Amino acid sequence: LKIEIQQPVLAANNRIADTLEAAFRQHGILAVNLISSPGAGKTTLLEQTIQQLKSCLPLAVIVGDVQTEKDAARLRRQGVPAVQITTQGACHLDAHMVQQVLPRLSLSGLRLLFIENVGNLVCPAAFRLGEGLRVCLLSVTEGHDKPSKYPAVFLAADVLVITKLDLLPYTDFDLGEAVTSAHKLNPRLEVFPLSAKTKEGFAAWVDFIYRRATE
Ligand code: MG
Ligand code: ZN
Repeated sequence: LKIEIQQPVLAANNRIADTLEAAFRQHGILAVNLISSPGAGKTTLLEQTIQQLKSCLPLAVIVGDVQTEKDAARLRRQGVPAVQITTQGACHLDAHMVQQVLPRLSLSGLRLLFIENVGNLVCPAAFRLGEGLRVCLLSVTEGHDKPSKYPAVFLAADVLVITKLDLLPYTDFDLGEAVTSAHKLNPRLEVFPLSAKTKEGFAAWVDFIYRRATE
């Protein structure tokens, strides 16, 4: 079964995404759309990235989940503004949902806005949210064949973060194979293998985001 998303739906989304993109650009904000399957570690990555960046960059978070406000509450504990979108069943964020919650954040003075998408490796790829950077996460506890199984997400991403690197010895995940197949789909992908637990590879990712938000 191939799921076709209706063209008018995507066209309407793109129009709002263009408006968001212009607003982010006007305010000098780097918006980062984080996409992965459920449990790949988006909230954990954000928690630790925010911990390292919040003292040098004014930042905020929008978190999408099907239900509950748990992730936003978790991120608010970092002392940064975090707005939860509960999609009530929808399996992706769209630009309209982001537009609706944006007045709850003060954009002036903000430099970095993380948007944690709903855990899903399929349709978030089709819905732009006005982001300047699209980051896809893949954990080593998933298969290294994910890029070839879900090409759309990897094709539309700027960055691939390979998470839970500390668990690599306990899995059959082939890091080289994952990177090769992702690059075969999308040669311009920047890849950051890292562990939020041991902090291996973490500094390179944080430096990258800092540079992109301040250039
Ligand atoms: Mg989460
Ligand atoms: Zn969806």
